[in-house]
Amino acid sequence: MVTLKVSNEKCTGCRACEVACSYHHREGIFNPRAASLRVCRSEKEGKFSIILYSDMPEEERQGRFPCDLCEDEPQPVCIKYCQPNAITIEEIGQ
Ligand code: SF4
Ligand code: SF4
Repeated sequence: MVTLKVSNEKCTGCRACEVACSYHHREGIFNPRAASLRVCRSEKEGKFSIILYSDMPEEERQGRFPCDLCEDEPQPVCIKYCQPNAITIEEIGQ
């Protein structure tokens, strides 16, 4: 199983990854609230993290599309359009 990680040192919080993801799911529509990922910043710690909406039930995704890892793209578009190269794919679990 894979997930997405964000680098605290590189991420600027621009949210281009969310916009790109929404366009991937619905061609012609830019709506970060439909994206499969959300970049969050902890005000207390000043650190960024990614919430990835993938295998969770539809009601928990709140209208967001499940991540398909951009299976029909040569490269995940959230990674492609992240200018600082802050996102990486990581294996988790078995
Ligand atoms: S596109 Fe990259 S730098 Fe911008 S919010 Fe997403 S992870 Fe952070
Ligand atoms: S890999 Fe594709 S579907 Fe998954 S979060 Fe990134 S852009 Fe969205």
